[in-house]
Amino acid sequence: MPDYDVVLVGSGFCGTMAAVTLAHLSPTAKIALIERNDIPGPGLAYGTSDADHLLNVRAEQMGAFADAPGDFWCWLEMSGQQGSFGRRDFVPRRLYGAYLRHLLQEACAASPSLTLLKRRITGLQRTPVGFTLTADDGSSLMARKVVLALGNFPPEQAERAPAQNPYAPQTAEELADDGDILIVGTGLTSLDMVATLARTKKTGHIHLLSRHGLLPREHADTASYTLSLQADNLPRTALALCRIVRGEITSAAALGVSWRSVIDALRPLNQSLWQALPTVEKRRFLRHLRAYWDVHRHRCAPQIMDGYRALEQAGRLTLHYGPILSQTRTDNGWRVTWRPRGTTEAKSFDVRHILRCTGPQADFRKLDDPLIQNMLQSGLVAADALQLGLATAEDYTVLDAKGARVEGLYALGSVLKGRLYESVAVPELREQAAAVARNLAT
Ligand SMILES: Cc1cc2nc3c(=O)[nH]c(=O)nc-3n(C[C@H](O)[C@H](O)[C@H](O)COP(=O)(O)OP(=O)(O)OC[C@H]3O[C@@H](n4cnc5c(N)ncnc54)[C@H](O)[C@@H]3O)c2cc1C
Repeated sequence: MPDYDVVLVGSGFCGTMAAVTLAHLSPTAKIALIERNDIPGPGLAYGTSDADHLLNVRAEQMGAFADAPGDFWCWLEMSGQQGSFGRRDFVPRRLYGAYLRHLLQEACAASPSLTLLKRRITGLQRTPVGFTLTADDGSSLMARKVVLALGNFPPEQAERAPAQNPYAPQTAEELADDGDILIVGTGLTSLDMVATLARTKKTGHIHLLSRHGLLPREHADTASYTLSLQADNLPRTALALCRIVRGEITSAAALGVSWRSVIDALRPLNQSLWQALPTVEKRRFLRHLRAYWDVHRHRCAPQIMDGYRALEQAGRLTLHYGPILSQTRTDNGWRVTWRPRGTTEAKSFDVRHILRCTGPQADFRKLDDPLIQNMLQSGLVAADALQLGLATAEDYTVLDAKGARVEGLYALGSVLKGRLYESVAVPELREQAAAVARNLAT
């Protein structure tokens, strides 16, 4: 007999909210929520303790339940933690972590059949009645159904460079010493690091380097915009998509409305826009448009960019763009050689530390995560055609190496990017968590 009706692996936003909702829908179901880290609930994004790491969505839209987007703001008010923040502010992410922990504690109190386990799952096998999960402490447990809510995986590490977690306290301490540093990547994680260093690093230069040198754009209050694009007439090529978005932005500008409103108005259509593209066009989008799309779609709080610009104006931070040609060890750290984009001449600088913030590794074939490798090798799961995550069906059921449904095995979160692309932030993930909980409850 299986030990549990449902086991959820990973207690970040997705695993936590699927467990909370399932416990509510099926109070007698035996559910285990498994997390390898000490604190279940916040996951990577909301586990940071740095008050300068802010949400990139306004507080009033961050409710964890699809039918109550204002729930997070209500909780902030009711728990007296809103401080001087307003509902449209970008509040510290650690407050969101506290909110998720609160929801989980409430669910555990209301539903004694919801169990939290601290383990790192390293293997998953099918059995006649469900699945067996094995953990790195040698223990195993059996479940009728399993949800993979594993979150993002660390970026690919350059050869010979030390692997570092940007959010580990010792990383922040190390970077704050008096040496020059290089942050590779110019996305939201890099901006988190800059926000921390603006406070903690008193001397030493900060180099930021990425292929395109594109920084996330900042949020601003804007009037709303109604798209001309119709949901039943979506473009079938990346070029047509690009032209349509540009056309909408031009039309919005003629009305005095910011491009931000166009990107926001597109959001409910993003998954359909992606699915309307044939695979070859999706590849084209990833190759030519992704970097530009991502910085406009995943924007940051304005105060993050204020801090960035202050460092740049003080001559303490420089943004470079172009490929890294080599990084070699020196007595004091690293010599980095790179080629500025659009030139043929290589340049070098020396730094004490290098931190890679190049975005999560999504190509599962390159991951050394034991659970992923175990599932790939047995054929229980397969990478999607674009190597953005796992192959899955419409109802979040995982597909095996032969493309067949693995009944009872579900996946949530950014591993669904191959099928949905827009599968990163809370407004989409809360819908997924609720949908999977409903499937599990039936
Ligand atoms: C730095 C950062 C900031 C972000 N800010 C925002 C924001 O402001 N607003 C927004 O809407 N979205 C934001 N996002 C997007 C964010 O990814 C989602 O909001 C959400 O937190 C993702 O949750 P998840 O459960 O999919 O992944 P995670 O939160 O990464 O959780 C996955 C969990 O699974 C655990 N796990 C993995 N493998 C195993 C295993 N084998 N055994 C046991 N446990 C395992 C991990 O330890 C982790 O706790 C941010 C993302 C990041 C990385």
